Amino acid sequence: MTSTHVIAVGPFAADVATSLARREGVDASPSFFAQGTNVDTSLLRPADAYVLVTSRHDPHVLVRIGDIVRSWGAALVPVVHETRRLRCGPILRPGGTGACAACFEARSVQNWSIGESFQGLYDFYRRDAAGPEGHLSSHTLLAAGLAQWGLDAVRAGKAVHGAYRTVSLVKPQVTEGTTTGVHGCARCYPRADAGARRDASWRELSEHLARAGAPAEEDS
Ligand SMILES: [Zn+2]
Repeated sequence: MTSTHVIAVGPFAADVATSLARREGVDASPSFFAQGTNVDTSLLRPADAYVLVTSRHDPHVLVRIGDIVRSWGAALVPVVHETRRLRCGPILRPGGTGACAACFEARSVQNWSIGESFQGLYDFYRRDAAGPEGHLSSHTLLAAGLAQWGLDAVRAGKAVHGAYRTVSLVKPQVTEGTTTGVHGCARCYPRADAGARRDASWRELSEHLARAGAPAEEDS
């Protein structure tokens, strides 16, 4: 059974972590961190997979913990309490192709028309360490269920890097999909691949233009 360690940031996340700690294959002692404090990764227990639960939208902590967990060769299942929905993902698997947390954010702003209107709220979150408190116990269970979905996929060895699932908190709506990384991202396209990708997309065009502009063989 894959060992899983849960990292909880903030009060909502702490309740989700407590719920998850009772589940099979999950370390019974989660790591708890207060909202707005630095997640000290030296305190985390070794595991094959980590669930990172945040009590509000905080892409910076997802990116940072994602980088560290990736360097350990482990998988990361983020669970985020956004303003109006609960989200699991983007799942990170070592060596997987898909989107990192930074690319997921960039794609969200790109594709989600109300994404930008939340920017003021996210800026406020960054300035205010404590933030709003209180949440429903049903949301805790929903978030634990989302984490379980991500963990099951990772444990089954599925290619879920970049995959996400969300549950709306204001209307009956579930969304899911897999986000691809933004071209040029060093996390999603490591240096060894980046050259090949750039070459592949531009070489074909330049060869095509050269052929189109060059006189035909029989004319020369
Ligand atoms: Zn990326």
